[in-house]
Amino acid sequence: MTFLELAETLEQTGAESVPPYRVEQIFSWISRGALSFDRMTDLPQAWRRELAGRFSIRGSRVSGRLDDPDGTSKLRFTLTDGAVIEAVLLASEKTGPDREPGRSYTACLSTQAGCPVGCVFCKTGSLGFLRNLDTFELTDQFLALSDLVRERNGGSCRISHIVVMGMGEPLLNLAALRKALAILCDPRGFGFSKRRITISTSGIRAGILELAEQGPEAELALSLTTAREDLRRRLMPGAGENSLEDLKEALKIYQEKTGRRITLEAVLLGGINTGAGDARALAAFAKGLKAAVNLIPWNPVPGLSFGGEKIREPPAAETGRFRRLLEQEGIQVTGRYRRGRGISGACGQLAGS
Ligand code: SF4
Repeated sequence: MTFLELAETLEQTGAESVPPYRVEQIFSWISRGALSFDRMTDLPQAWRRELAGRFSIRGSRVSGRLDDPDGTSKLRFTLTDGAVIEAVLLASEKTGPDREPGRSYTACLSTQAGCPVGCVFCKTGSLGFLRNLDTFELTDQFLALSDLVRERNGGSCRISHIVVMGMGEPLLNLAALRKALAILCDPRGFGFSKRRITISTSGIRAGILELAEQGPEAELALSLTTAREDLRRRLMPGAGENSLEDLKEALKIYQEKTGRRITLEAVLLGGINTGAGDARALAAFAKGLKAAVNLIPWNPVPGLSFGGEKIREPPAAETGRFRRLLEQEGIQVTGRYRRGRGISGACGQLAGS
């Protein structure tokens, strides 16, 4: 619930006239990780009993956890209908088994159980689509990852960034995402900074335009993968429905409205989208946009194939050559999202397994 919904709901439960400070107390307790109403010690006891009888604080059960020595942790959630999703906590560079935990944490959230886009290089895509997640199933992920941060740091540290890059296509579940981010950014609760949120899309044109008009305010990343139209249709069947020309036009409108730079992400698949022609096409797409390109050498997922051959991670030389070709075209290039490979928690590896 948003703050307003919480206030209205409390009024409807018949708890007489609920003073705003009481609503703030409950909202704040939940944001600080309270798992039961009994913990809300500044509320009258009768209230706490009443609330516990009527409501639950979290609806998703954490049913598994894996920790990578690089500081990444992955949580598996079993939802009320038995669907399984995952969320990932990424720690700053300095974290390791024999070091102090880092001070910077990023939460990677899922928006759907499975994914309808069906990218051939992504484990989630191979699962098919089950359903959209509800708002509480998004905020539950953030709350549980915040518990992990508190556990590691004794309460002295918070999640500083959110990336909506887990399972599913966020722009196909925009209403639930918008509400979840509104809750997380409410200063009476988490007070999360909008500037530290990134939404990644496979390129849903209508969703990009809606984002430009109605928000939520966030950084935008486009999983482009390739700027060769025919190849993109085959690699990302659900996203390929939007032509590259239409997609670029939507991105330009988004940039005109928001003034924001965007990130173009390219998962590099050995021998598939890493040739000189691929680099030229990618550079041509990036030109005219205020954009940097982020190269992600494919994070291995056993069993995935394309064109009858197993997909393979490109060797460093292939990635380096591709990067140089882009830079020669004047494109700004970065390389991220490699962490968590040891626990299948990196980009493209989430499976709810
Ligand atoms: S890469 Fe993203 S959009 Fe593509 S199948 Fe995986 S989760 Fe869906």
